Amino acid sequence: MKIKSAEFVMSNSEVAKCPKNRIPEYAFIGRSNVGKSSLINMLTDRKSLAKTSGRPGKTQLINHFIINDEWYLVDLPGYGYARVSKTSKKKFQKFITNYFEQRQQLVSAFVLVDIRHKPQTIDLEFMQYLGENGIPFGIIFTKADKLKPNAIDNHVEDYCKELLKTWEELPPYFITSSSKKIGQDDVLNFIDATNEE
Ligand code: GDP
Repeated sequence: MKIKSAEFVMSNSEVAKCPKNRIPEYAFIGRSNVGKSSLINMLTDRKSLAKTSGRPGKTQLINHFIINDEWYLVDLPGYGYARVSKTSKKKFQKFITNYFEQRQQLVSAFVLVDIRHKPQTIDLEFMQYLGENGIPFGIIFTKADKLKPNAIDNHVEDYCKELLKTWEELPPYFITSSSKKIGQDDVLNFIDATNEE
């Protein structure tokens, strides 16, 4: 897929206020600082479509962008930021589960994980939640430029092993680097293919 246009549509604090039409959408989510904004900018060939936030965990908004007038790219807030209270964590969980359980036009979520780290409970639990609720998702490994090719293979293999402890099948996964522009075609082709089904 070639990116012909990418425009910001709206930010919402409630799922009920998200666009009401049936345009298919793809949601990007991951821990704060995983490289989500950089990835969105890389995928869409834009320098600052998604704003890199100076205050991680503070912006709890659902951001819709329209790509090629065909599909929505949805930027969800980063999770797992340590410096928030229990109450706001609960509120955040509800906000996110509302999104995933109510957005019928969601084709697939993408869970972003930093390729340098061992599988983290918070990400595995989140994938478990998606799986149990029948929400299709893929994994996007970010910051691949930080590792040598054989280390990339080892880390991905470790991740797959961990997933296969609870899953019979692996979700689709993508290896990306926003700074080296790796993985753009893989992710966009996946979106293209699933969007036409
Ligand atoms: P977000 O909080 O998930 O939106 O993450 P950002 O996109 O703001 O990135 C967090 C930090 O990781 C920033 O310092 C980025 O420069 C850095 N970063 C993001 N993507 C990459 C990447 O592909 N490679 C490298 N080396 N650094 C990255």
